[in-house]
Amino acid sequence: MAGIQNPCLVMTERSGPKAVGRRSWLRWLCWHLFTCRVERMTEVYQGSCLCAAVCYELLTPPTAVSHCHCSQCRKGHGAAFASYASVPRSALRILGGASSIKTYASSETVLREFCAHCGSTLFWSRSQGEFADWVSIALGTLDTPFKPQKQKHVYADSAVHWYTPSKQCPQVD
Ligand SMILES: [Zn+2]
Ligand SMILES: [Zn+2]
Repeated sequence: MAGIQNPCLVMTERSGPKAVGRRSWLRWLCWHLFTCRVERMTEVYQGSCLCAAVCYELLTPPTAVSHCHCSQCRKGHGAAFASYASVPRSALRILGGASSIKTYASSETVLREFCAHCGSTLFWSRSQGEFADWVSIALGTLDTPFKPQKQKHVYADSAVHWYTPSKQCPQVD
């Protein structure tokens, strides 16, 4: 083992000769195995609709978290705003209930997918244009814990008057 080179051992050499050796190597190995396990655990995100007829998984963490206050998203969700994050369409895998997913074209280029049995909003996507190969996931349907790095409120001008979004998130119109 002593002959194996790795960057952690080089780093610990700086903190003194005592830090170098089998203990450092074992510490590095444990940390490496732990982080690999954490990465594997958080790689796939699973979600489902209210009645669980539709189940899906995301092969990459969703990005670009946004809370949309536009009237269409509000009505589609029946809520103060809609929370979405996006993945490439190829990273969305429908595990069950594909035939239960219905699509509503809320405008010429926007498709909203929902469960035909329970009405849960599931996905938002564009039928053409720059981001047509991406899909936005209604974050409320995620079952796997998800903590975004950052998030923003969009179309805040259309926001309802009975709820004030957190000032911690930037607002973009
Ligand atoms: Zn359902
Ligand atoms: Zn919207």
